Amino acid sequence: MLIYMLNYIFYIYMERGNVLHQIKNIFLFCISLFFVACRTSPDIDRKMGEYAKQKIEYKMGVNKNVALNQFLKSVGDKLVDEIPKRQFDYKFQIVDQNVANAFSIPGGYVYMSTGIIALTNNENELAGIMSHEIMHVSLRHGTKQFKRSIIPGILKLPGKAVGVISPKAGSIVNLPITGTSALYLTHYSRKNEYQADEKGIMLCHNAGYNPHGLPNLLIRLEAINNDQNGLKMPSFISTHPSTPKRIELGRSIANKFVNQKLTNSADAKYLMKLDGMILENNPHQGILVRNEFIHPIINLYLKFPLNWETKNSNTSLISQDKKNNSLLILLAHSFGKLEDVAREDIDKMNKKMGTQAEESDIPGDYKARIAVYNNFKISLGVMYFQIDKVVYKLVGSEAGLEHFHRSCKTLRKLTKKDLALIKIRKLKIVLAKSGQSIADISKAHKNTWSIKKTAIMNGVRIQTKFPKGHPIKLSVWESYK
Ligand SMILES: [Zn+2]
Repeated sequence: MLIYMLNYIFYIYMERGNVLHQIKNIFLFCISLFFVACRTSPDIDRKMGEYAKQKIEYKMGVNKNVALNQFLKSVGDKLVDEIPKRQFDYKFQIVDQNVANAFSIPGGYVYMSTGIIALTNNENELAGIMSHEIMHVSLRHGTKQFKRSIIPGILKLPGKAVGVISPKAGSIVNLPITGTSALYLTHYSRKNEYQADEKGIMLCHNAGYNPHGLPNLLIRLEAINNDQNGLKMPSFISTHPSTPKRIELGRSIANKFVNQKLTNSADAKYLMKLDGMILENNPHQGILVRNEFIHPIINLYLKFPLNWETKNSNTSLISQDKKNNSLLILLAHSFGKLEDVAREDIDKMNKKMGTQAEESDIPGDYKARIAVYNNFKISLGVMYFQIDKVVYKLVGSEAGLEHFHRSCKTLRKLTKKDLALIKIRKLKIVLAKSGQSIADISKAHKNTWSIKKTAIMNGVRIQTKFPKGHPIKLSVWESYK
């Protein structure tokens, strides 16, 4: 509250505007900054969270599965209702990330990756991992770490305008593009982790869940992490202390409430809610089929050079030939009309380059404007085109721009043939027939996980013969309809 008062005074002085008052303004502004940096009001958590949330969701992409999001919210709401003297409004989101990961940021933002949701076998386990993250927020474990990295950023907002490649999935946001990776990889102290486990397990119990959910899930998390050892992606395990000790401690805390481990963990009713969850190739981000970029949501086709390394992310598509220092980048530029946006951007570029671009138009499904700068060792080309209300930009940096021009010419709407190329990897829940093994079920349903991984994901032994109706999680490729 004090901060707001000081800022209010600051604005009053601003309006009067004489020199003495301006000096006072600066002084008061510095004081308010000092308070922002030192005070630990929950308002700070909220401000930091709001800022980091935008960056994270922009970078990673949030999953739009309505039913699944509603379900996650219902579990989260049950848990946060049990927080004594709750200070924050909690928001729960699913991030499109194959790796089993869960994290939270100050102010009440809790994230579960599709990878960790796929690992859960029942609601108790989901509640277990969610309550751990909820407690990091509630106990404000991240507040100190975040202060150092976020506060300078808050003062700089609003940032430079950049867009996402999936404007229908998210919204085009105004954000500085740099410096996000460290935000959601905060390592908490061991003490904080054990505290989040302990209080989280209590929270689960108070909300009516079996408190053994978290230790049960940790066993599977450890196993899957060991199985994917080659993977260097940050995961829940890599940002948390040794799991065996946490399992042991978690178990002893849970035992105080309920002395029952829940050995047969697969809950068919729960797992059916996860059926169809996208594990890879979410169409909202557009899909790369070798060198062809197919975006079914915005109806866009673009072809990239065959032997270049092409990667698609939530924010842009980058194709590069590292040997020759050549590069193509596709990104959403801004809202607006093609003519206006291109004019403004080209004029800006002309000034920066100190020369006029060669401009041309190309007809087609999507009319496009091309601007080329040729009088350099590495030429620069930009193609602007509009789909719905968004103007996209394909930028090429390359000697001669041969590949850039070739890609520009491939711009068009999708055909049925293109759509048929799209394959999406989904979680599939199958009910076993009496006596079936993982190998039997995998073969029958074209499971893409190895037998070993399927056993770990399901929390069963490889040799298990299932009773009739036992739910099994598999991963399958499906065509996009
Ligand atoms: Zn933690």
